[in-house]
Parts: sequence; C-alpha cells; structure tokens
Amino acid sequence: MVPTPETRARQTYTILDRTSPPDITFLTQTDPFKLLVSVIMSAQTTDRQVNEVATVLFQRYPTPGDLANADLDSVKAIIKSTGYYNAKAKNIVGTAQALVENFGGQVPLDMEELVSLPGVGRKTASVILGQIAHKPAIIVDTHFTRVVQRIGITHEKDPQRIEQEVARLLPSEYHYRFSMIVNLHGRQVCHARKPQCEICTVAPFCASYPL
Ligand code: SF4
Repeated sequence: MVPTPETRARQTYTILDRTSPPDITFLTQTDPFKLLVSVIMSAQTTDRQVNEVATVLFQRYPTPGDLANADLDSVKAIIKSTGYYNAKAKNIVGTAQALVENFGGQVPLDMEELVSLPGVGRKTASVILGQIAHKPAIIVDTHFTRVVQRIGITHEKDPQRIEQEVARLLPSEYHYRFSMIVNLHGRQVCHARKPQCEICTVAPFCASYPL
C-alpha cells in the first residue's frame, strides 16, 4: 500500500528524531535580537558566513538601540560578505529601529508582530518562535522544501502552503523539531544535486527513492 503523506511525515519524524542530535542549531547567536538579525542576514549565503559576520557586527552594535542609530554605510561594510548587503543593511537597521520604537527594544514573540518588521518573513519569524519562544514552528527554507517534496509529504510549492500542509500532518509539539531534523537531513544526506539515497534512513517512506 502506498503510504499517505501523513504516514510519510510521521515516519520521517520518528526515524530522523532517533538518528539526529538532540539540539540542532545552525546560527550560533542565542540572544533574540542577535538571532533575529542573523536570520535576516542568512538569505542567499551560508550560516558559517553569517556567524562570522555576526560576531563582528554585534561587537560594534550589541543592542537594538546601537544598531538603530548605526551609520548605514558602516553596517554595509561589515555585512558585505553575506551578499545583498544593501537590502540587508537597510532591513537590519530598520528592524532595530522598529524594535526600539514599537516593541520597547524587545523582540516580539508573535508571528504577526514579527512579520511586521522589515525583512522578516514567515521563515525568519518561525526560527525565532521555535528557537527562542519554543512555540510550534514549521520553518520552510530551501532544504526543508526539497526534502518534504521529495519524500512526498507535500506537493505544494508555495512556502506558506507547505507550512500549513506539514503543520496539519503532525502534532504541534513536533513542528519545530521536525523542521530542524528535516533541514539537517537535507544538508547532510538529501542534497540538492546528489542525494545519498543509498544510505538514507527515510528511503522506505520516500516517494522519490531511488533518486
Ligand atoms: S531516499 Fe533519497 S530523495 Fe528520498 S529523502 Fe532519502 S536522500 Fe532524499
């Protein structure tokens, strides 16, 4: 019998939960403000690059107030190696200003409030909600999308539809952990170009096996 998307999702959770490290983080900042800025900077670059740049950026601007008053060109110079630095600099300074002006310098832990900040979409907001607030969060990035589509958990293409569909298939207490273990699986095994299907523990439940 062909497994349903729900069965694929639950089996993927069970298998990867057992074989993945207990705590998975890709960006090293743990302070809500610093993590939020790091996630905004992480578009189209590597987490390693963001972690290096973040160290320098937060030595210079450790608080939302500091970054809100920063000179834009100085910020651009620091974050240049992350790519798209004009837009990213505007967004991180704009977000710092919005935190100071609208949220008392604190990062709000609410989806609607988070996505009101410049450069913050649902993916970025979900990282904050999952990692900082320990709330249910499906984090739809490029790795997550590729893996859930290949396994056959969803055929949706729009990120928000993917988020809704996966959220519907799993209990909410699994959402954040599922996001992280699937993301890690995409980085380590189910690569974009050459997925390692021959060593993949999820293969029995994967609609694309062998790819
Ligand atoms: S069997 Fe292949 S395509 Fe399916 S999840 Fe594993 S690595 Fe990816």
